[in-house]
Amino acid sequence: MNNAVYKIDIPANEPILGYLKGSKEEKALAAELQRQSETVIEIPLIIDGKEVKTGKIGEFRMPCDHKHVLARYHMAGEKEVKMAIDAACKAQQTWCNVPWQDRAAVALKIARLIADKYRAVMNAATMLGQGKNIFQAEIDSACETIDFLRFNASFMSQIYSEQPVSDATQMNRLEYRALEGFVFAVSPFNFTAIASNLSMSPAIMGNAVVWKPATTAILSNYYLMQIYKEAGLPDGVINFLPGQGSLIGNVVFADPRLAGIHFTGSSSTFNSLWLEVAKNLANYRSYPKIVGETGGKDFIVVHESADIDTAATGILRGSFEYQGQKCSACSRVYAPASKWPAIKNKILNMLSEIKMGDVRDYKNFVNAVIDEKSFDSIMSYIEKAKADKAAKIVAGGKGSKEKGYFIEPTVIETTDPNFVTMREEIFGPVVTVYVYEDAKFEETLKLCDGTSPYALTGAIFARDRMAILKAADMLRYAAGNFYINDKCTGAVVGMQPFGGGRGSGTNDKAGAMLNLLRWTSPRAIKETYVAPTNYPYPYMD
Ligand code: NAD
Repeated sequence: MNNAVYKIDIPANEPILGYLKGSKEEKALAAELQRQSETVIEIPLIIDGKEVKTGKIGEFRMPCDHKHVLARYHMAGEKEVKMAIDAACKAQQTWCNVPWQDRAAVALKIARLIADKYRAVMNAATMLGQGKNIFQAEIDSACETIDFLRFNASFMSQIYSEQPVSDATQMNRLEYRALEGFVFAVSPFNFTAIASNLSMSPAIMGNAVVWKPATTAILSNYYLMQIYKEAGLPDGVINFLPGQGSLIGNVVFADPRLAGIHFTGSSSTFNSLWLEVAKNLANYRSYPKIVGETGGKDFIVVHESADIDTAATGILRGSFEYQGQKCSACSRVYAPASKWPAIKNKILNMLSEIKMGDVRDYKNFVNAVIDEKSFDSIMSYIEKAKADKAAKIVAGGKGSKEKGYFIEPTVIETTDPNFVTMREEIFGPVVTVYVYEDAKFEETLKLCDGTSPYALTGAIFARDRMAILKAADMLRYAAGNFYINDKCTGAVVGMQPFGGGRGSGTNDKAGAMLNLLRWTSPRAIKETYVAPTNYPYPYMD
C-alpha cells in the first residue's frame, strides 16, 4: 500500500521557445504546419473514450484563408449529450477514488507530452485553426496549457494538506470530495490553454466532465483530447461534445446530476446559462457551482508623468496582439492632452511597419479574426465611428473578408467618453482613445471606473508614485487584473492569477488555487476519543 505523504512543489513556468530560423523547434513547426495544411481530418465526438459519429457535420476552416477546410466535425444531438452525462457520472465513481497523486501524474504526463512530443502539433493547430501567429500560439497552446496542468497539480497538493485542528480528545479531518455529479465545461475559441484548463481543473480534483468545445477551436481541442487519452486519462472522465451550444445546454441543464459549470466566454452567453440553471434549480441534487470568466472592456490610463515609449508600446501590443481577441485586450485608452500627440505619433510609426496576413508568414504581427460573424460585428463598430461626429479614425479602419477575415489595427479618437466603442466589448483590433485635460486626472479615473459594466483588466502608465497610488485606489473594483506600467494582457499562470469582477465573471482566478477550490465539496470528519455516556452537563448539578 502506498502510504507516503506527497507534496508537489510549485513548478517553474514553461520557457517560451524562440523559433529562430533554422532552430529545431522552427523546423518541427514548419513540417507540422505543412502536414496540417495538407490534411482534412474527421473529428468525432468522444464519449466514454469511444469515437461517436453522428453524421451531422460542420466544417472547420482557416481564418486566414476561409476556403481552406482543415477538418470536418460531427455534432452532438440530444442522445449523445445524455450518453456523455451518463458516461461522466459512471466514470466519476472510480475516478474520484483514484489517489490524488495518480490524478496529478496524469496531468503532469499531459504537460510533458505537450512540452515535447506534441508541441508542434498543438501550436500548428492553434495557428492555422484559431489564427494565431507563432508567438501567440507558443504562449498559449504550449506554455500556458503546460503551466495550468503543472501548477494545478501543485495547488491540489497544497489544498489537500490544509487540515483543521485536532487535540488529545479528538481527530478532525477534511476530506476533499469531488462534487456529487458531473461538471459541464464550456470553452471559448480564443485560448487553447483555457479549453484545456476548463476541462482538466475539475478533472484533476476527481470530477468527471462533459466538455463542449467552441467549434471555432475544434482542431486544437480535438488534439488535446487525444493527448489526454495517450497520457492515460481514463475513459469517460472527460467527454468531448462538439455541437450547438444551446442544444447541448438544454439537455445538460435539465439533468439533476449537474454539479458544476466551468465556463469562459461572453457575458451574454454566461447570463443565459445562469438563467437556465435558475429555472431548473428545484430539480438539482446539489446547488451547481458556477464559475464563469466572461467579457471585458479593458483600459489603459496614461498619466502626464508616463514614459511615452512604454505607454505607446503597451497600448499597441495590448490592443492588437491576436487581433484584440483576448478577453484582456486593451480596448479603451485615457490619454492626457499634453502627452497624446507624442504617444499617437509613436503608435502611428509602429503601425506603419506592422504587417498583416497569413500565420505561416512569421513577419505578420497581425492575422485574421476568427470568423465572418466576428468580422462583421467588428466592422460594424468601425462603421459607427466613421459615421459619428464624436469620433475620428486615426489609424486603420479598413477590412477585407475576401481571402481571410482581415481587419487593420484601428485607432479611434473620440471626444465623447461614453461613445459606444468606449463602452461595449468589440473583441477585435480596435482601440478608442479619449483625450483628457491633464488637470482632470481624478475625474478621468472616475469616468474610467463607471463607463462600462465590465471589470476584467486595466493598466496605469505613470512615473509619479502618487498618481499610481491614486489610480490603484480609485480603480480598485474596475479590474480583477491591474497592471502598473505594463500592458493589460499576458497574465502568466502562477504569477498573475486571472479573472475579473462585475460583468466580467465570478473572479475565481484561473491559474490559482482559488479556482481548484470550486471543484471540491469538503467533508469534515470528527472522531472523538472521549464520547459522553449520559446527557446532563456538569452545570446542571
Ligand atoms: P461565446 O460566449 O460566443 O461562446 C463560448 C462558448 O459557449 C462556446 O463554446 C459556445 O458554443 C458556448 N455556448 C453558446 N451558447 C451556449 C448555450 N446556450 N449553452 C451552452 N453553451 C453555449 O464566446 P467566444 O466568442 O467563444 O469567446 C469570446 C468571449 O469570451 C469574449 O466575450 C471574451 O471576453 C470572453 N473570454 C473571457 C475570458 C476571461 O477569462 N474572462 C477569457 C477568454 C475569453
